[in-house]
Amino acid sequence: MRRKLIVGNWKMNGSLAMNAELLSGIREGLAGIDCDLAICVPFPYLPQCQAALEGTDVALGAQDVSAHAVGAYTGQISTRMLLDFGCKYVIVGHSERREYCNESDELVANKVQRALAGGLTPIVCVGESLYDKEEGRTAEVVGRQINTVLSVLEEREVCDIVVAYEPVWAIGTGKTPSPLAVEEVHAMLREQMIRKNPDAIECVRILYGGSMKPGNAEELLHMPDIDGGLIGGAALKASDFLAIARQA
Ligand code: PEP
Repeated sequence: MRRKLIVGNWKMNGSLAMNAELLSGIREGLAGIDCDLAICVPFPYLPQCQAALEGTDVALGAQDVSAHAVGAYTGQISTRMLLDFGCKYVIVGHSERREYCNESDELVANKVQRALAGGLTPIVCVGESLYDKEEGRTAEVVGRQINTVLSVLEEREVCDIVVAYEPVWAIGTGKTPSPLAVEEVHAMLREQMIRKNPDAIECVRILYGGSMKPGNAEELLHMPDIDGGLIGGAALKASDFLAIARQA
């Protein structure tokens, strides 16, 4: 049985004061939650979040990592640095980085490799644009994205990643695909991973992301291949984030 995982992606939001309120709301509302929880926060706030989450089971993560181990890469952040601040997870290949920072499938695959080598769990994001969806190319695009990552992994490493299917057109828009449409893509993703490592049927969690909120979480989270959520906007309000987690 795959344990559900709910991850908040704070994106480029927050301030010391705003975070303090959000973090105490999360700490105070954890009773009765029976899934894994994590928040992926902006780099400068990792120490604040690490301190605030101490003694809880809420894991910490970052939103990106360098594909390099160390050295002359101005502005980049290494796996080693993330580990210094207690990170367990790192989001890799979010569509906003693919789009605004021109991250290619190959770079995303290199970052996944680097994250694994450094002892972090990459949350690998894949998803089609509105154009791709309208052209009927969802399976092709998402299949290409996941296969580029799988092509650089050892068989055993397949079990060390988390995948997040995030249709680009659903992120921050209030639109979501039907649970059945999401399930279809998740089943296809799982099939690709099973081809590389049959254990992926049980060991890999596939999250859904894109306008998940308390009102639509339950039906999504009850589909057989939806193992959790990657939550953007709704993760900025403790009560919404926890309400989603309570349905997992
Ligand atoms: C995201 O950015 O990963 C995301 C899913 O955002 P939202 O929940 O706001 O659509």
